[in-house]
Amino acid sequence: VNDLICAACGREGRTGPVWPARCLCGGLWSAATPELYPTPGVDEEGVIEPVPLWPDPLDPELWWKREDLNGTGSFKDRGATVLAAVAEQAGARRLVLDSSGSAALAAASAAARSQLPLTVHAPGTLPRAKREALEVLGATVVAAGNRGAASARAQEAAEREFYFSHVYHPAFFEGTAQSGVEVLEQTGGAPPPVWVLPVGNGSLFLGLALVLARVGIGDAVRLVAVQAEACPGLRAPGGSGRTEAAGIGIADPPRREEILVALSRHRGEIVEVTEEEIAAARESLGRRGVAAERAAAAAEAGVRRLRAAGEDGPILAWLTGSGHRGG
Ligand SMILES: [Zn+2]
Repeated sequence: VNDLICAACGREGRTGPVWPARCLCGGLWSAATPELYPTPGVDEEGVIEPVPLWPDPLDPELWWKREDLNGTGSFKDRGATVLAAVAEQAGARRLVLDSSGSAALAAASAAARSQLPLTVHAPGTLPRAKREALEVLGATVVAAGNRGAASARAQEAAEREFYFSHVYHPAFFEGTAQSGVEVLEQTGGAPPPVWVLPVGNGSLFLGLALVLARVGIGDAVRLVAVQAEACPGLRAPGGSGRTEAAGIGIADPPRREEILVALSRHRGEIVEVTEEEIAAARESLGRRGVAAERAAAAAEAGVRRLRAAGEDGPILAWLTGSGHRGG
């Protein structure tokens, strides 16, 4: 069964032990048959537990989806768990990826649970604590050179091994979509009408957009993508600015066009926040008892912007990842 379809030219493709990251035309894959992907936590027992909707103690009209409470402290556990199941289904023997952040940690955990060996290619600057966190989960870590070199090594290995990419394989979005499915269950199908989340590569954003399209309440929800002013990858891709919020520090998101289409479909907007606003939001969340990663703090900074602009109704925001791991 061809499970992949090129969003640009409509050509079909198939996930095997090795699969091409892009269509021959250069387009990116969407899921042609998402119903054939295993959804752990639904099909199997207790792999991904629901995370709570947390009422903000300071803002009575704000709720947080606590993705920081997932096993490795990030929403990426959801996508990685589904992608590992897909890799297993496809007969993969080894997984490979290039990342040093939360995607690698989630991949290492999911790979270990699926008993598939994983190699992580990271830059030589990978901090020792992050390396240890990956190795304790059984991953092989190759840390050398700059980000480009790490990426090139992973691309080369992906000619022989399963490319465990949270950007290129659409099964990842089927996993992150579960966060939206949970929200609908937790709110009796009537969620707050404004959804605010940090967006880098868009791996959570695109999953939530899938859910909205499928349940047909898309019109009732406005999506707000929060980015760092220092790295406005959606509005002005290809810049050289850097943000401390690594999770959203993506200068040129490969799925930018898809993200922009989903934004326009949901009356969405992009809110850009400064490094100072992110730092202040992180401190403020800390005083509420939550250690947030900087990307998640950007969401809080985005909510403050919306409030300042007169948005006074109910808001749902995503606490995408924990700050306990640094980042
Ligand atoms: Zn194509």
